[in-house]
Amino acid sequence: MRRIAANYIFPVTRPPLKNGIVELDNNGVVLNLIDTKGDFTESRNLEFYNGVLVPGFVNTHCHLELSELKNTFNRSLTLPGFITEIVKYKKKNVTEISRESAFLEDDLMKRNGIVAVGDIANTSLTIDVKQKSKLFYHTFVEVMGLNKNPEYNFSKGIDVYNQFLSAGLKSSVVPHAPYSVSPELFNRVKTFAVQNNSIQSIHNQESESENQFFESKTGKLVDAFMSMGIDLSGWNATGKHSLESINEFLPRENNFLFVHNLYSTKNELQDIIETFKNPFFVLCPNSNFFIGEKYPDFELFLKFKDKVALGTDSLASNTSLSILDEMKTITRINPAISFDTILQWATLNGAKALNCEKEFGSFETGKQPGINLISDFDFTKMQITEKSRIKVLV
Ligand SMILES: [Zn+2]
Repeated sequence: MRRIAANYIFPVTRPPLKNGIVELDNNGVVLNLIDTKGDFTESRNLEFYNGVLVPGFVNTHCHLELSELKNTFNRSLTLPGFITEIVKYKKKNVTEISRESAFLEDDLMKRNGIVAVGDIANTSLTIDVKQKSKLFYHTFVEVMGLNKNPEYNFSKGIDVYNQFLSAGLKSSVVPHAPYSVSPELFNRVKTFAVQNNSIQSIHNQESESENQFFESKTGKLVDAFMSMGIDLSGWNATGKHSLESINEFLPRENNFLFVHNLYSTKNELQDIIETFKNPFFVLCPNSNFFIGEKYPDFELFLKFKDKVALGTDSLASNTSLSILDEMKTITRINPAISFDTILQWATLNGAKALNCEKEFGSFETGKQPGINLISDFDFTKMQITEKSRIKVLV
């Protein structure tokens, strides 16, 4: 048995314990949490650390297969420009470098204190990495296509999905984004998701041009589609915002991850909460700033703080796959948001979104959540600082 203590323990499901102790078995399963009430006398077989102990982080939105694009794209491309670059990249063949980069970044995520990942895949590239990884993965196989052959696009997704399943990995088939999926393809994904009660995910309102596309079929997204030679002649504007336009194509009963929500209004967020049984808002602030120099309006999400999770997005639009770096950004942009809240976003909420909260997300008896030590913590403000660092203890 290990007994680990620090200045504070943040269990996430209950208030922080000053000079608390967490007891673990040899497999890292939590046996007991001891509240010393700040009176720290119990020191039998104790490992004590300066800093705070938090559960392992959950990276709820990632694209591990894009890891080789680290330091490749320029900043501030805006989303349509970014998509054009990604499409060019995907036309190239997968190389040994793509695979090696994914292996490397999986290992770096572990060192960054991440224990579980919701990962988007368009190919089977990451199967090998995930089978060998110590991290928990749920893979979202993404389908897209506005053309008149939805069956072809859907079957491509099913093929990749079956490969993940055969490899013993958790997976679901999901739509990429409102603007990149035809109604027929949406319906196929929905039917399949309902049959399998699978976790769903969609990139939602990541750019202003997405709403423009639906409202009036104008804007940078249309220009990007044109430049890629995509035929939009059969596609008609709805005169509404993007999410409102495709709402009917999304299953209501499944866990549903809405990723980015950068241009969602307060009413739209409220609608999601009222319409879907178990929705989550996944925020990826560092990626948003990289692509479009804008951060989510964090205050808007405080009303739904039990429904917010964090993601890194891919290394095509981020400099690290580190949830701590996302937490630092939120703290810097909005210091009024408490560490407790941001930590809940970084751990338990993501675990709930990925259906792995029985094991991860909080220090509770019977869970095996991993333990991160955060040092250089500001005990006066009870916040992380730009200098805060992670050490993975368990
Ligand atoms: Zn993404």
